[in-house]
Amino acid sequence: MESLLLLIYLIASITFILGLKMLSNPKTARNGNVVAAIGMALAIAGTIALYTDASGDHLGNHLWIFGGLAIGGVIGTMSAKNVKMTAMPQMVSIFNGMGGACAALISIIEFKHLVHDFQPELYAGGGYTYFSTLDGTSLLIIMAGLIIGSVSFTGSMIAWAKLDGRLNDYAFNGQHIVNILLLLVTIGLTAMIIILRPEETITFFYAALALSAMYGILFVLPIGGADMPVVISLLNSFTGIAAACGGFLYDNTAMLTGGILVGAAGTLLTVLMCNAMNRSLLNVLIGSFGGSAQAGASGSGAQGNYKEMSLSDAAVLMSYSSKVVIVPGYGLAVAQAQHACHEMEKILTEKGVQVTYAIHPVAGRMPGHMNVLLAEADVPYEKLKEMEEINDEFSSVDAVLVLGANDVVNPAAKTDPTSPIYGMPILDVESAKHVIVNKRSMKPGYAGIENELFFRPKTSMLFGDSKKVLQDLIAEIKNL
Ligand code: NDP
Repeated sequence: MESLLLLIYLIASITFILGLKMLSNPKTARNGNVVAAIGMALAIAGTIALYTDASGDHLGNHLWIFGGLAIGGVIGTMSAKNVKMTAMPQMVSIFNGMGGACAALISIIEFKHLVHDFQPELYAGGGYTYFSTLDGTSLLIIMAGLIIGSVSFTGSMIAWAKLDGRLNDYAFNGQHIVNILLLLVTIGLTAMIIILRPEETITFFYAALALSAMYGILFVLPIGGADMPVVISLLNSFTGIAAACGGFLYDNTAMLTGGILVGAAGTLLTVLMCNAMNRSLLNVLIGSFGGSAQAGASGSGAQGNYKEMSLSDAAVLMSYSSKVVIVPGYGLAVAQAQHACHEMEKILTEKGVQVTYAIHPVAGRMPGHMNVLLAEADVPYEKLKEMEEINDEFSSVDAVLVLGANDVVNPAAKTDPTSPIYGMPILDVESAKHVIVNKRSMKPGYAGIENELFFRPKTSMLFGDSKKVLQDLIAEIKNL
């Protein structure tokens, strides 16, 4: 039985690795998700049916287990089916937070078991500390799971509230000192828990839980503007590490592999996003203290006059160009204009125009948002160009059509050291001959700052909802 269960865990671990690999390409991503989900279902079913504890007993509490699976399954399916593409980051945050909460709950339950099973005779003899008994290692892992899991839970909940527009960024003077103190006290409490007899440390344990939960809140509250994607990815890696602690604790290889993969993938994504924004992680985490980007900073005020363009002029400009680049942004997702966008791209291509898409790594509201959105409309993957690749090509482009993007084309990121997005690499659309910007108004994007690009001589504004504008553009281009 035990070897069969181990085999199942091995198969599950392989499916996680394969699934993750397949997720790295939009063509195989859907199947990758299914492969990993099948592996997870197998691991859960195997555990319920085959797991036996030290005394040879199978898992009991079937009502609780199946009840939990049913409730969680229904809520998960309903939320995934109903979530709007634009609300995906919020959902990712909530689900990630639930993972952190689970890891913290495992630690709470296992700490209680340790206290209950504690053998004083082992502890009392020959200068043992509790840590040097067999359970000492478990205790350390329990504490790691508790601290990381609860930081991830409360941090993700704050990230959810901020992404959902329910909470503004908040910082107070000396907040980073308070955060460091919170961390130090939590580490000190962990040391006490390891040194003292377990029944004496229950208060310390719950104090460590409360302090790490508070740390999660204070750590995410001030981070705003363009830095949220990095934080979400970092919290995701925390949850992975906390789950891996559970895997260690239960000697469960599937849980361990799953946790390590999430932790590693989240960490890599965090590093990649920091690189994409040209920031160090430290700078992202403490850079926003004392001031926030999204809290309504209005940049350097009005930048002068902008000019508008008519639909027919835009249609003529693009139809008679040899190279057109489309820059999709969050607004395209809001308008659900991906299908119309693909249709216009096909019509222009039929007219002999070379059309490509410029994908900024943090465009939209989640990593890979634009790739997923355009893949939904069957835009060929070869047409999507990463920022580094396309930036060298803009100088040979006749017209750029910016569709609901703002921060990712804001030149302030290069020119204004006081800007909250300063240092983030942007798409160099200004190097092209003409820039058409489609959005509904002159309102700022996520970072809450004005965009000089809209006032530059090369730029023409094409106001309106992206979907409607694209549908009208298609009609105009067809009539030419
Ligand atoms: P922005 O948020 O900068 O701008 C989007 C623009 O779309 C707005 O200015 C808005 O202007 C316009 N818009 C909204 N709805 C519509 C519509 N229906 N039709 C046309 N336009 C519309 O988006 P970007 O993609 O340029 O940048 C992403 C930002 O989000 C960055 O700051 C990034 O750091 C941040 N972020 C990214 C995450 C990620 O993982 N990718 C996660 C969290 C945040 P108007 O209202 O005038 O129409």
